[in-house]
Amino acid sequence: MQLAAGRVALVGCGATGSALASLLARAGVGFLRIIDRDYVEPSNLQRQGLFDESDAAESLPKAIAAARKIKSFNSEIAVEAHAADLTPQNVEELLSSVNVLLDGTDNFETRYLINDFAVSQGVPWIYAAAVASYAVTMTVVPGEMACLACIFPDSPRGIVETCDTSGILNSAVSFIASIVSTEVLKLLLGARNKLRRTLLSYDIWTHDLAEINTAKPRVGCRACALRDFVHLSGEDRPHITLCGRNSVQIHERQRPIDFVEVTRRLTPHGPVRHNEFVLKFWREPYELTLFPDGRAIIKGTTDTAVARSLYAKYVGS
Ligand SMILES: [Zn+2]
Repeated sequence: MQLAAGRVALVGCGATGSALASLLARAGVGFLRIIDRDYVEPSNLQRQGLFDESDAAESLPKAIAAARKIKSFNSEIAVEAHAADLTPQNVEELLSSVNVLLDGTDNFETRYLINDFAVSQGVPWIYAAAVASYAVTMTVVPGEMACLACIFPDSPRGIVETCDTSGILNSAVSFIASIVSTEVLKLLLGARNKLRRTLLSYDIWTHDLAEINTAKPRVGCRACALRDFVHLSGEDRPHITLCGRNSVQIHERQRPIDFVEVTRRLTPHGPVRHNEFVLKFWREPYELTLFPDGRAIIKGTTDTAVARSLYAKYVGS
């Protein structure tokens, strides 16, 4: 396969995701689908290389901002942006028709969803994470190598799951993105014998390096042996506390929002503004960001009940 014919879907376009998107777009991978649920904030700019201050000022969804930025340096490739949270309900729509799936997320719930989808469809995917100066990655070719559930039957506790409150060294992000994007090129170019068959973890500050062999699927693995894809049939989780963000996501079922009408209704209650992609409303000490499909991120609380009642009061119940 030529890189220009390669199709990649990337879930999560924060630090690792934007580094990956940038490398793959500049390498000439022909199609990138970028899925991200969040919007750009000034605090992201230290490590999220695809965004700039004007994106943060507009609160652009990261997927949209990333697609715009990529177009500005490589207009030859196709970039599809989805400002959405990956869920069992939309996983098929968002992850189908690509050659490789990439993990730019910050949570194991979404990683298990990607793993179940990838194993069920036989599509390669790459797990990647970076926290502080530490990074970890694993390439999964279903049926040939271990999958995420082979290695971690349950969500691992500890460093890989730590929220980004401790910050991320941008060089740890560059390190992991270099490794992952090279694995993508090997997959797209058919160099499967060159793929790394380990779970690699490396601390770029202390040089602590560890590898776990992933060359064979684990006998009895829930996903790749028993084909029990529990995460694909997962219940919709309406409210999620966003890791390290002092924010809660309200995940409504499809509730199309008319920004003009909502702006008119909210104006008496506090400052409100919107563009094509997001509506922002400030009600001290909270900040509500609303997306056109009715999803919202409420900043200023980690209490889902508080967020839920703000949503009900200002958007609708
Ligand atoms: Zn497995």
